[in-house]
Amino acid sequence: MAGVLATPVSQAFAQDSGGVSVIRDTEIEEILHQDSDPVFVAAGLNPQSVQIHLISDPQLNAFSTAGEQLFINTGLILETKTPNQLVGVVAHETGHIAGGHVARSGAMGRAALGPMLVGIGLGVLAALAGAPDAAAGLVFSSTYFGEISVLGYSREQESRADQAAATYLEKAGLSGRGLVEFFNNFRYQEVFDDEKKFPFFRDHPLTDDRIEALSTRVEQQAHYGATDTPEAIARHALMKAKLEGFLSGAGQVMADYPPSDTSFPARYARAIALYRQTDTEPALKAIEALITEQPNNPYLWELKGQVLFEAGRAREAEPAHRRSVELKPSAPLLRINLGQTLIAVNDPAKLDEAVAQIRRAMGQEPDNALGWRLLSEAYDAKGDPGLARLAAAEQNFYLGQLLEARTFAVHARELLKRDSPEWRRATDIILASKPTAAQLKELGVTG
Ligand SMILES: [Zn+2]
Repeated sequence: MAGVLATPVSQAFAQDSGGVSVIRDTEIEEILHQDSDPVFVAAGLNPQSVQIHLISDPQLNAFSTAGEQLFINTGLILETKTPNQLVGVVAHETGHIAGGHVARSGAMGRAALGPMLVGIGLGVLAALAGAPDAAAGLVFSSTYFGEISVLGYSREQESRADQAAATYLEKAGLSGRGLVEFFNNFRYQEVFDDEKKFPFFRDHPLTDDRIEALSTRVEQQAHYGATDTPEAIARHALMKAKLEGFLSGAGQVMADYPPSDTSFPARYARAIALYRQTDTEPALKAIEALITEQPNNPYLWELKGQVLFEAGRAREAEPAHRRSVELKPSAPLLRINLGQTLIAVNDPAKLDEAVAQIRRAMGQEPDNALGWRLLSEAYDAKGDPGLARLAAAEQNFYLGQLLEARTFAVHARELLKRDSPEWRRATDIILASKPTAAQLKELGVTG
């Protein structure tokens, strides 16, 4: 694990140099769930318990692991031409999850995957390109997820996942056509050696028999002719534009979304590309124009706040982030943005609200390492070193850095009131950091 976590963080954003991260974005997560939840329900899963993780990797891949964890590479989303194609792939992976196929590929287990589940906001990831230290522990070598995902299913499991996908899609009132189309689009890869294939197709060989069996089945289904709704098509286009704006170079964005394209997604992608080039004023102008059209879109306010924050204009960022929270109060990541901005305005009167906003977000996402890091900063600024060290212990714990977590927890215990809930939490972290009996004795910790 340590080797993986030690991947040079200067690669934080440069996908072409090999670093990938699990990325977080409220808007994209919402779109993925909107599209996928009917399939999860059809498979008898609780959509709220299926976690969709997005990996910033241009390689085309998707895979699932134990614990109903579904991983989708940004590259796969960008390669899907319709929402129905994407949901078809999701349905196939859901077939592996619901069929319990993960038991075999999940040999490394959820425990081994723990730290990598820590995600990073799309905007934060972009900003970290210039601040590599802050990304420590959040960037992985590009082969890391590939190795996890190609542990291999049997051909029989593959065909069962295809058939299950067809069943779920039909039950959800969706066509299975997209999955067949998607497979057909990449059929040419079958003649490649494994290392030249996209990871997804190393694991999912596209034999003629397999595609034939799937297409025969879906063509007979009642909803074969069902088409994507205009809303689903719009969401899909928006998601692709946002991902490309954040993850591709400006040249690529301008090629795919030239100024002659005045659609909302195209202008969104170009605004994000301007921000990533630190063309702050043109970016803000472009975002303002979008906000004029969609004043109640929380993600436009989030983007505006992000641009201002990254430009060192925290005071101006505050109302933008506040507006995004007002428009989407259920989204913890938006609240964390606001908390981060309230810390940065450097006004002691705002620290209590910063702590309250971040704490509220952490109530929904206790494993959010960035949230803990910000809490640690806020407590230090408030002159609360015990709570600051405890928050740092939590941050490291959720990053899977158990030794560092223990060091901070030991320090927190010295500063916190004995037997208080916080003191006990610090003790729990020490115990969870897998110390030896001798170390425990040395620390004087006894459960
Ligand atoms: Zn599969």
